[in-house]
Amino acid sequence: MDTVTASKIYNNSLTKYSRFKTREVMVGNIGFGAGNPIRLQSMTTTDTMDTKGTVEQSIRMIEAGCELVRITAPAAKEAKNLENIKKELRARGYNTPIVADIHFKPDAAEIAARIVEKVRVNPGNYADKKKFKVFSFTDELYNEELERIYESFSPLVKICKEHGTAMRIGTNHGSLSDRIMNRYGDTPIGMVESALEFVRICRDHNYHEIILSMKSSNTQVMVEAYRLLVNRMIEEGMNYPLHLGVTEAGDGEDGRIKSSVGIGTLLEDGLGDTIRVSLTEDPEFEIPVCKRIAERYSNRKLHTPIADIGMPISDYDNKSQSASINPQPEIPYDPFSYQRRKTYETDKIGNHHVPVVILSLDAMEYSEPSSLEKISYSYSNELDKWNIGDLAPDFIYLGTGDLPYALPGTLKKILDYSFWKTLQDKSDSFPLFTPKEYLTAERKSYRINFVSLTINDITPNLLEAIKIDKFCVLVLNTSNLHGMAEERRVIIELMQQGIDTPVIISRSYAGIDDEDLTISSATDLGSLLIDGMGDGIWIKAENNIDVINRVSFGILQATRTRISKTEYISCPSCGRTQFDLQITTAMIKKRTDHLKGVKIAIMGCIVNGPGEMADADYGFVGSGPNWITLYRGKDVIERGIPYPEALDRLIDLMKEDGIWLEIN
Ligand code: SF4
Repeated sequence: MDTVTASKIYNNSLTKYSRFKTREVMVGNIGFGAGNPIRLQSMTTTDTMDTKGTVEQSIRMIEAGCELVRITAPAAKEAKNLENIKKELRARGYNTPIVADIHFKPDAAEIAARIVEKVRVNPGNYADKKKFKVFSFTDELYNEELERIYESFSPLVKICKEHGTAMRIGTNHGSLSDRIMNRYGDTPIGMVESALEFVRICRDHNYHEIILSMKSSNTQVMVEAYRLLVNRMIEEGMNYPLHLGVTEAGDGEDGRIKSSVGIGTLLEDGLGDTIRVSLTEDPEFEIPVCKRIAERYSNRKLHTPIADIGMPISDYDNKSQSASINPQPEIPYDPFSYQRRKTYETDKIGNHHVPVVILSLDAMEYSEPSSLEKISYSYSNELDKWNIGDLAPDFIYLGTGDLPYALPGTLKKILDYSFWKTLQDKSDSFPLFTPKEYLTAERKSYRINFVSLTINDITPNLLEAIKIDKFCVLVLNTSNLHGMAEERRVIIELMQQGIDTPVIISRSYAGIDDEDLTISSATDLGSLLIDGMGDGIWIKAENNIDVINRVSFGILQATRTRISKTEYISCPSCGRTQFDLQITTAMIKKRTDHLKGVKIAIMGCIVNGPGEMADADYGFVGSGPNWITLYRGKDVIERGIPYPEALDRLIDLMKEDGIWLEIN
């Protein structure tokens, strides 16, 4: 069993919820970090030279609950215009602090730092031009580079210090300097080091009004980078507040799922002081999503206590609320690097199989084959044939009911053991046991025995029984307010005891709307999948089954554990955007959303877009008003394509690459 050394700590506790204590940074009159609430923020999409439009959009954001308004300052003239925007907002009674978003232009940053309450710099491009050159940096050359950065960045630090301006040092995956790329690669550790180079300069000037971010459109990379950053801060005695966000999350349900997976996974562990949900939608629509994500932690501290790691769960006295018996426990996985938990394989669950999707259906409602259309299985009476869509679940749970028709081979039934054992033909169904039934059953399946349990069912007897059964699959449930940590605790116990039984992560939700279901389940289940835990997911809710099914597959896609559709990495747009991002994203989706597993980046500008599209297969990037540059990976394929022709050219490129599929 691999273990992680105690030095790989990244939060207060893996079992007891509390927010990681950061220092307070004031941005104008708003405190970030320390005991302050999780602050909500967003970014304008207007042209910064359009004072009226930017002010009006900022007001809509503030009215929605935005506590910090970010505005792009691509160059000195826009930075100067922040003064007019700020004046107008103040004149209209809005004191919300403003942050200027800077890329590449130190002069714009130095102007903005004298006007607004905070500046955001990207260390990957503040004093560096990315050239994607591959050459090796000797220690001497590396140190010379650091000295050069010290010279270029120090003036901004001094201005911020003098004017009481805060700063976000915001690293983006895919937007790292050549120096960092050559030494660390495009990796979480490279992202952390990129920010720390700038943090050390700030500290050298005794300037500490810093907030840090480590964004990526890849949720695994993003989570690992933030955790590593906190680990490094702990080691170096720092505690700067964290701004959380998933870049280019996209729009609609997918954007919400991806943001919840990334941001939620970190918030679950008490990390994060301010959040921005980047959606390809108007910025005021981001704030309600931020609110719903943040509200999940308002009373989280009141959760039922969870056995400390290192103490067997079955020995845990539930009344004990004592501090961890082992404050630096060894954990049997690496929180800084994704690896799927090793499990055995039984009938296409576990081991190398992608996590399965289980849905609960009421047998009465699905008595006709056509009713399964809602979950991607459509039956043709004429051809007597099933057509199976991309979002086709693997199992349906029917309790004590059954369906009067044969299912396609890819779909299996799970039935309560009490009913299953009475069936003559058991070939297309599997039993679901309670722990007690499982321990005493006379009859079991020779393929899969599902055992539904909670942490309270974990006894030495049960663990002994499942350890020797290679056909068992656990269905793990929780009603703990801090449910992710409780389920993780159970899986850690299995790993510590060398039990490689596959685990289906299950959560029940009642009385919530589709958006809350999306956000909650993406956070609860996604945060375990991100750590390689979970051989399947089972969301139990009263919402429509097609929503539950879509969200289930969306969570697996967002955690990159099961790819079932095209992935769009679309930027949220800002004042630099060269075309209408919402319309363009919808247009590209319409033509390409049947291409399973292809990642297409839709980026509003050439200044920042190519860096931020990280691991996309293709890039559709605005290079001028209504001009597009097409990328394959990080390589420019064609520049200056008129906007109306660009989508056809993208499709031609995919045809050349042999990945295009015609829709029949
Ligand atoms: S990539 Fe999009 S959000 Fe980022 S700077 Fe360019 S236009 Fe703005």
